[in-house]
Amino acid sequence: MNFALTEEQAMVKDMVTKFAENEIKPIAAELDKTHRHPEEICRKLGEMGIMGVAVPTEYGGAGMDTVTYVHCMIAISKACASTGVIVSVNNSLYGFPIKTYGTEEQKQEWLSPVASGKCEGCYALTEANAGSDAASLACRADLKGDKYILNGVKRFITNGNVARYCVLAATTDPAKAYKGVINLIVDLKNTPGFSVGKIEEKMGILASGTAELVFEDAEVSAKQLLGKEGQGFRQMLSGLDAGRIGIGSQAVGIGKAALEDALNYAKERVQFGKPIATFQAIQFKLADMATELDAAELLLLRAAWMEDHHMDYEKESAMAKMYGSDVAMKAAIEGVQIFGGYGYCKEYPAERHMRDAKICQIYEGTNEIQRVVIARKLLGQR
Ligand SMILES: Cc1cc2nc3c(=O)[nH]c(=O)nc-3n(C[C@H](O)[C@H](O)[C@H](O)COP(=O)(O)OP(=O)(O)OC[C@H]3O[C@@H](n4cnc5c(N)ncnc54)[C@H](O)[C@@H]3O)c2cc1C
Repeated sequence: MNFALTEEQAMVKDMVTKFAENEIKPIAAELDKTHRHPEEICRKLGEMGIMGVAVPTEYGGAGMDTVTYVHCMIAISKACASTGVIVSVNNSLYGFPIKTYGTEEQKQEWLSPVASGKCEGCYALTEANAGSDAASLACRADLKGDKYILNGVKRFITNGNVARYCVLAATTDPAKAYKGVINLIVDLKNTPGFSVGKIEEKMGILASGTAELVFEDAEVSAKQLLGKEGQGFRQMLSGLDAGRIGIGSQAVGIGKAALEDALNYAKERVQFGKPIATFQAIQFKLADMATELDAAELLLLRAAWMEDHHMDYEKESAMAKMYGSDVAMKAAIEGVQIFGGYGYCKEYPAERHMRDAKICQIYEGTNEIQRVVIARKLLGQR
C-alpha cells in the first residue's frame, strides 16, 4: 500500500482544501445558525467534480478514486460538517449504487445530474421499524405491469428535503425479509404520490436537512429498478461499505477542526502567566487527539485503497468508520475542555464540532453495528 499522492490526487486535494478553507469555513457558523442548505457551495463543488469524486468523467464526476475522495471529504468536513455529509450522500449513498449496479441508460439519466452537481441525491433506507435491522423494511414496492407502486414512509433521510433524486430501498414482500429488498431510483420532483414529511430538529449538522419521505401510491417505472429483484440487499450492504468511508472521513475532518482550533487557542490563552499550551495536561490532550486522528486517517486510506483495488473491504471500512467517529467524538470533547468556558459558548466553534461529531457514531450503521460487522468477519460468519 502506497499512500503517496499522485500529481493528480495532490492537485485535487489541494484545490478542495483551498476551496474549503476560503469559501466553506467562513460561512460554517452561519449555516449552523440558520440551518440553510448550502446551495451555492454544492453547485460550485459540483462544477469541480466533487459531487462525484470517484464517478467517471463521462457521468459528470471527477474520475478520481476513493483515496482522493477521503482527502476531499476530510478537507470539506473540517470546514463544515454539514456540507461534508451532503457531499458524502451524493457520492456514496446515492452515487455508488448507480455507478456500480446501474445500466448505461440509468447512469446517463440519473447519475450524471447529481455527480455533476446540478442537484442533490439521497438514499432512503431507514424507517420507523427498520433502523439497525435494515432487512425489516415495510415500505412496499408492488409490481403492476411495468410500474412499481410505492407505499410507505422513510425516516431520517439526509438531503430528503432538497434532493431531486433518491435511491429508495423498498420491499416486494416483507415476508421475504432481506430477499425481498429492491433499490429503485425515484425522481422526487416528478413522482405524484410522493411528498416530504416531517423535517427533524437536530443536535448537529444543522445545515444538512433530515426529512421523512412519504410515498402514497407513488408510481415508478420498472426501468428504474437497480439490477434485478433479489439483489437489493447485497447492493444496499455494498453501498453502506462505501458510505462508511465517507462518514469516517467526515468524522476525521471534524476531529481535525477540533484539534486545530484547540491548538491555536491553547497557544494564545494565558493563565498563571503562561499560555495554557505550556501545561503538560493540555499538551497530552493535544498529543492524543493528533495521534488518534492520524491513526483513523490511515485506517480510512487503507479501506479506500482496498476499495480502489476491488478487494473485500467490508471489515476495514467498518473499522475506519467506527474508530474515526469514536476518536473524532473524543477529540471534539477534549477540544471543548481546552477552550474552558468558551468551549461551552457559541462564540467559538468548539461546541459545534462536538454536536457535529456525535452523529458520525450513529448514522450509516451505529458503532455497535460496526462492531457486529467486524466481529462477524473475524468469526468467519456471514
Ligand atoms: C441526522 C441523521 C441522518 C440520517 N441520514 C440517513 C439517510 O440519509 N438515509 C437513511 O436511510 N438513514 C439515515 N439515517 C438513519 C440512521 O442511519 C439510523 O438512525 C441508524 O442506522 C440507527 O437506526 P435507529 O435510529 O433506528 O436506531 P436503532 O436501530 O433503534 O438502535 C438503537 C440503539 O440500539 C443499538 N442496537 C440496535 N441493534 C443492535 C444490535 N444488534 N447489537 C447491538 N446494538 C444494537 C444501536 O446501536 C443503538 O445504540 C440518519 C439518521 C440521522 C439521525
